[in-house]
Amino acid sequence: MKNNMSGFYKLPSVDRLLRSEPFIALIESFGRKATVSAVRSVLKDIRKELSTSKTTTFDFKENKILSLVSDYLHSANKPTLKPVLNLTGTVLHTNLGRSPIASEAIEAMKEVASGTTNLEFDLERGERSDRDDHIEDLICSLTGAEAATVVNNNAAAVMLVLNTLARKKEVPVSRGELVEIGGSFRIPDIMSRSDCRLIEVGTTNRTHLSDFEKAIGPKTGLIMAVHTSNYVIEGFTSAASELDLATLAHKYELPLVVDLGSGTLVDLEVYGLPHERTPQESIKDGADLVTFSGDKLLGGPQAGLIVGRSDLIKRLKKNPLKRALRCDKITIACLAATLRLYNDPDRLMKRLPSLRILTRSSDEIKEMADRTAAELRKKLGNSFKIKVLPTRSQIGSGALPIENLDSYALVISPIVKKGQGAVLKQLSERLRSLPVPVIGRIMNDSYWLDLRCLENEEELVSQMSLLNLK
Ligand SMILES: *Cc1c(COP(=O)(O)O)cnc(C)c1O
Repeated sequence: MKNNMSGFYKLPSVDRLLRSEPFIALIESFGRKATVSAVRSVLKDIRKELSTSKTTTFDFKENKILSLVSDYLHSANKPTLKPVLNLTGTVLHTNLGRSPIASEAIEAMKEVASGTTNLEFDLERGERSDRDDHIEDLICSLTGAEAATVVNNNAAAVMLVLNTLARKKEVPVSRGELVEIGGSFRIPDIMSRSDCRLIEVGTTNRTHLSDFEKAIGPKTGLIMAVHTSNYVIEGFTSAASELDLATLAHKYELPLVVDLGSGTLVDLEVYGLPHERTPQESIKDGADLVTFSGDKLLGGPQAGLIVGRSDLIKRLKKNPLKRALRCDKITIACLAATLRLYNDPDRLMKRLPSLRILTRSSDEIKEMADRTAAELRKKLGNSFKIKVLPTRSQIGSGALPIENLDSYALVISPIVKKGQGAVLKQLSERLRSLPVPVIGRIMNDSYWLDLRCLENEEELVSQMSLLNLK
């Protein structure tokens, strides 16, 4: 006890530490305030350790304090949001930030981020303008819509449309389309928060046009169709087509609103992918407004695009909610640059990362898997067996839920079967704690890394010696 107390008294003071050379360097990097509070916190921990520990040899020399303070400052200043390698096999993974952004769009964001912009300023007339002007013509020419606007995400788009066109009114929706999209987007909840009354129509597996017609009354505000993004109903099913719904809606002078969810601006079949409904098709079939996401198949930033009749878009823009849901200059710059890539369909597949990744051939992925497997075998030691196996990637974010893409995975299995669950868990933890965390999944007693989304194999290979699994 006596020794501990004497150790306690010999701790250098905050002031003395801060006057010494290495601490001055820390102040240069992290600022005085952060450094002072780091020193205080470290000294406090040391005092606590000294007062409770039985050892009398606790090392509190300046060097030791310095390294503790330096670690403290470095870890406090590390961003928590950082790049990871998405090897889950789900390309547009909501938890992993959905779509990567094209380099043209990254440049556009940089350009507007660092200074002031003409976000809502008409340079020709020298007067105030609308921020949507930067994207409206682009969206209209790509979708064939009369008008367009954009908000924070598709959930916001649906909310704005419902609240503007059907506040305190009834909205018939098919029971087969009352979807929950991961992360708490539920059509019934969005409906009530938008101040609308949901009228459930038909049954889970079959909804006919006549069911909709029976639901229409004096209080109906609009008819809504929702893309059942993340599931399909198979077997004895029937749904009213958008074409028929539009005819019905217009007979009663109601708008037909379609929540497309993902929505893609190009016919994915052209790129060898399964067909996904486009806003162009919905508009052509008579939808009055269509909403879809910016960061799903479109391959841009998080945003909700709303396209359709210009009188309805005008009403959306007048709703005070639009002000609350509007996008910032960075999103608008990113979205506009992404949309401009669509004007050159021949090069789209190369320039738009999401499309490039989705269309990668399984042969190319297999070649990459063979190369990385060879590297990994060298670095992972003797406790694991590494195979290259065919797998199926998913598009993700609700797009084409049952369509899969042929791909290849590195499949890592513990050689010793006893206790392999714990070994796999440890492997996944180590992969997650790499400088660029690697996210795969455990399946069939192995750890699977689907390489579809790995564009730079060096990024994976170069980190493997840090795994320390030997
Ligand atoms: C994804 C999705 C949404 C939500 O879109 P966010 O851009 O994530 O807000 C809404 N409706 C459908 C049908 C969807 O697929």
